[in-house]
Amino acid sequence: MTLASAQGYDNLIMIIVLSRDASSHNKEIVKSYLKDNGFSVREQIFGDDLLLCASGKTTADVRELTLLPGVERVASTSKPYQLASRETQAADTIASVGGVQIGGARISVIAGPCAVESKTQIMESAACVRESGAVILRGGAYKPRTSPYAFQGLGMEGLEYMKAAGEAYGMPIVTEVVSPEFVEAMKDLVDAYQIGARNMQNFELLKKVGATGKPVLLKRGPSATIEEWLLAAEYLLAAGTKDVILCERGIRTFETYTRNTLDISAIPVMKGLSHLPIIVDPSHAVGIRNLVPKTALAAIAAGCDGLTVEVHPNPEKAFSDGPQSLYPEQFERLMRDIEVLAPVVCKELLRTPKKPAAAQNNKGLDGKWAQAFSLVMEKVVFCGENGAYSEQALNRAFGENCSRLPVKSFPAIFDAILGGEATFGVIPVENSLTGSIHENYDLFIRYPDVVIVGEIKMRIVHCLITTEDATFETIKTVRSHPQGFAQCKEFLDEHPGWRPETWNNTAAAVHSIAETARSGKPDVTLAAIASETAAKVHGLKALKTGIETNPLNYTRFVIAARNEGGKALVPDGLAGQKPTKASLVFSVKDKPGILYTCLQILNNHGLNLAKLESRPIVGQPWNYMFYVDITMPDEKQNMDAALSDLSKQAESLHFLGAYRAA
Ligand code: PEP
Ligand code: MN
Repeated sequence: MTLASAQGYDNLIMIIVLSRDASSHNKEIVKSYLKDNGFSVREQIFGDDLLLCASGKTTADVRELTLLPGVERVASTSKPYQLASRETQAADTIASVGGVQIGGARISVIAGPCAVESKTQIMESAACVRESGAVILRGGAYKPRTSPYAFQGLGMEGLEYMKAAGEAYGMPIVTEVVSPEFVEAMKDLVDAYQIGARNMQNFELLKKVGATGKPVLLKRGPSATIEEWLLAAEYLLAAGTKDVILCERGIRTFETYTRNTLDISAIPVMKGLSHLPIIVDPSHAVGIRNLVPKTALAAIAAGCDGLTVEVHPNPEKAFSDGPQSLYPEQFERLMRDIEVLAPVVCKELLRTPKKPAAAQNNKGLDGKWAQAFSLVMEKVVFCGENGAYSEQALNRAFGENCSRLPVKSFPAIFDAILGGEATFGVIPVENSLTGSIHENYDLFIRYPDVVIVGEIKMRIVHCLITTEDATFETIKTVRSHPQGFAQCKEFLDEHPGWRPETWNNTAAAVHSIAETARSGKPDVTLAAIASETAAKVHGLKALKTGIETNPLNYTRFVIAARNEGGKALVPDGLAGQKPTKASLVFSVKDKPGILYTCLQILNNHGLNLAKLESRPIVGQPWNYMFYVDITMPDEKQNMDAALSDLSKQAESLHFLGAYRAA
């Protein structure tokens, strides 16, 4: 453990997280231990946790501290921003703003006008940004303007309009608070406070806002260093809020062409230094409308968790920041581009299901389908364990808070859905490098009462994961799921001496290696192929990342549910949205031209083929079954008629489900 005197901070900070059932007696013992070791101790409430923050120019035995009764976890840092530091909390914070989450594997977009100008204007703005997929509404009711003669905002009246717009369109609202005196009055109207760039170091404001415990969007000051910005976040965290979202909005440099200079590298820097989510405001960063979309995409590529973008229904008439406000159609285009770019950086654009506000979920879930399914959702089953790719897909679809059931095999997923232990299942069916996962197609046929109700596509980046001291030279055995081996074939071919060992799933392979480290005898001859998340979960090292044969490596997962009397649990797709895709499996008799006849039936009914794949039927040499995905027609009757005609020609026909394409 080193002291960070090089940075001018001699103090070592130990953060001791007490377990929820720790007694006050336990707490006093820990405090005395720390004091006896030369630390000064402060109690800190942090969300639902009670922490002891010990500070001193000394060290303590972490193992001994961890063993004291009532201690859940011990972390240490030499950074002055102790609560914000990645060293004291390795896992990303996922902030929740009125039930919408920011952080993790999602990209959350906040949008709206610079200022609330009238009830009509904020209603129109809310309607259009939501239509394009924004999940939180922004707008200033109190405006900190450079000139005292410029529009200062509508104040509380504006805030009332904004709340009404947020409620009408099912979006939480975020708005700037400019003075400590307004904090209390705004509290019940806003879902998140925004601390503006000019106020980043208004410490009295930070303390007052932080003490409300409400989420805060903290803009970076125009001339603030990263460390000053993190210390401002620390004020909020120390005062009692856990949901702090950092916002890079450009800093002042010698360049004056753009309004500010977007510090794009602040994004990866912050990701390393802190667990807090970071979003980007491209509008105030560049100040010129046509530069906003490209800059926004660069920020997404750099790894930010979301954006806050100024959009105005009529930018020429805007009371403030019109020149940088996007036209609604520009915003729509930007959102479509983000949707395409997000999976490349292993994220997914969070979209609000288009549903009336009254039907919002009440379980704090925010995944792509969580709101749509919340009325029936209880548990989601996946194959694997903590850190598995399937679990990451589950998080994308249903949010990190969703309750989950890990099982050891694919058939167990189907059993859990049928048996009612889980309401939904997440099942991989196809990989862009290795093709369809036949076992799961077969299971859909074996379990006709389990149907597909949704899909999700996820980029798969594989890593070679080892214990700390392992090197390429020490490795003898590589463990993974057969899909992991298949997708990394070229890399493995370069190491012919390594022996592949098949495991049930990639995360289990990592787990088995972590066990050797935990037992005190880390085995440097072992490596696993799995995700970086799995490595983090088990505290192992990613010796090499990106070892898949081709970086365009995507896996398609489907969301399955039980068919209730001919209808799936969510028969109309997501949140009342019409299904856009359907999947079928059929087999044909060995008869000349029969496949042509079957495909012609689909064509005759105007159905577009999105996928056609054949595979031999096990036990019936030279007989084939076909996997077909079709684009759903506008008229459902066409689909029904096609299925009816097809069933007359095909030997067998299985309808796997109709759902909204990812
Ligand atoms: C705003 O977001 O409306 C705003 C005033 O931004 P900043 O504080 O970054 O200038
Ligand atoms: Mn503005």
